[in-house]
Amino acid sequence: MPHTKRIVIIGGGITGLSAAHRVSELSGEGNHPLEVTLIEARDRLGGVIHTIKRDGFLIDSGPDNFITAKPWALALARRLGLESELISTNEAHRRALVVRRGKLMPIPEGFLLMAPTKLMPMITTPLFSLPGKLRMGMEILVPARKANEDESLASFVVRRFGREALDRVVQPLISGIYTARPERLSLRATMPRFLDLEGKYGSVIKGMRFEGKQRKTEGSGARYGMFVTFRDGLQTLTNALRGRLDHVRFRLNERVIRVTQKAAGSAIPCWRVDLEHGASMEAEGVIITGPSRHSARLLTEVDTVLGKQLSAVQYASSAVVHLAYRREHVAHPLDAFGCVVPITERHQIIAASFSSVKYAGRAPEGYVLLRAFMGGALQPGMIERDDEGLIVAARSDLDDLLGITTLPCFAMVHRWPDSMAQYDVGHLERVAVMRKRLAEHKGLQLAGNGFEGVGVPDCVHAGERAAEELFSALDLYMQKGEHT
Ligand SMILES: Cc1cc2nc3c(=O)[nH]c(=O)nc-3n(C[C@H](O)[C@H](O)[C@H](O)COP(=O)(O)OP(=O)(O)OC[C@H]3O[C@@H](n4cnc5c(N)ncnc54)[C@H](O)[C@@H]3O)c2cc1C
Repeated sequence: MPHTKRIVIIGGGITGLSAAHRVSELSGEGNHPLEVTLIEARDRLGGVIHTIKRDGFLIDSGPDNFITAKPWALALARRLGLESELISTNEAHRRALVVRRGKLMPIPEGFLLMAPTKLMPMITTPLFSLPGKLRMGMEILVPARKANEDESLASFVVRRFGREALDRVVQPLISGIYTARPERLSLRATMPRFLDLEGKYGSVIKGMRFEGKQRKTEGSGARYGMFVTFRDGLQTLTNALRGRLDHVRFRLNERVIRVTQKAAGSAIPCWRVDLEHGASMEAEGVIITGPSRHSARLLTEVDTVLGKQLSAVQYASSAVVHLAYRREHVAHPLDAFGCVVPITERHQIIAASFSSVKYAGRAPEGYVLLRAFMGGALQPGMIERDDEGLIVAARSDLDDLLGITTLPCFAMVHRWPDSMAQYDVGHLERVAVMRKRLAEHKGLQLAGNGFEGVGVPDCVHAGERAAEELFSALDLYMQKGEHT
């Protein structure tokens, strides 16, 4: 009989749960004697994924959907038997608005994240000046950059499309996703597709138009047709994962404060995991998830170089304010999925989703659910405000933009401190150094949104990959061979 191996997973967000689930899938395939413990500092699982039901409204207080173009979350949902629970964005109003001079206006149809793909909507939009439009159109003539080093998103957009494109649309759209400063954001780590288009076609517009002909593109802003969620909210996914993990020992309300190696260099690794209140555990394998700056703190005694690289990944904090209204109290037609706000407009929100327009079942008949985002790297102090301050700020912006003249039926505030990883220029080089150092520590894995993607699908992938690599490191795949 093979010796029972112990695996400790730190963090019960989507990354940690995906890792635990993949461990369970792999151990089921090989029938391994494994003892798996998942330690979570909060009193609930899911991390930033949290769905709340109130008065007939369905509120996702953190993420509210995921993209299917990155396949891992969708594939996991299918393996969990959740496919019939998935819903797509509503077909009507698949577009985004942007604030310009205090008013909402549509992002021109075919303008996808940073590039226009359709001519007429660009000619007719009042969003850009004539010189701005001409500069954007000149993109097809701008020579591709030869240098291979990383570049910030702002530098890329200004170089190819001009300043106006950045200030009026790209900055707010990107901030709505990464809550980041475009001057610092690594293009290669966040939007490599645009770099590839430049490299392959010599022009982003040419490349998007060519590839768009093969794949019907639609709407404006984000690629909304590719987003899905669950009928009952995103927590459906984390609940289902929990339901498949009966053999895992869950320790909630317990914070890990240190991870050290007991027998460095030995063939079978032994890690020690210390908890806040004095208890400790030993394990052959440890997967640390959650913000990489937190992981750095846990590993100070293991590897200072690794710790330094982990803490170099900056995190921003954000707040989400949900506001519920009777439909007739919002004058705006709400004929879009939401709006983004350029920093130059000096509003207090960075974006808002019209949640009940975007997905069915988010508000009862006759009501609407709005969701305002605040904070991020561009407004670092924002989440320090108290709940009332955040609600007043969100209401003040949305009242003006959407013509709301009454108080909301209710308002809810959720803060997500240090939760949005900022992939600064050079991020992928940093990750390569981390991976190299990590390979020196058998039985240790790191996963989460600080490495190769911030979205839910990326985190599912990161957790699953960590589980698979741990299996390799602990020779558990070989044991499978021995059993069959
Ligand atoms: C407001 C918001 C909106 C978002 N919207 C979207 C979206 O719509 N679509 C999308 O794809 N992505 C979105 N994202 C990004 C995505 O949701 C996250 O990157 C992802 O869910 C992070 O999962 P995680 O498990 O790595 O981290 P987390 O969810 O942060 O989970 C980490 C867990 O580890 C625990 N933990 C940390 N340290 C310790 C310790 N020392 N001991 C024990 N436990 C510990 C924490 O308590 C936490 O529960 C959004 C993020 C935020 C904050």
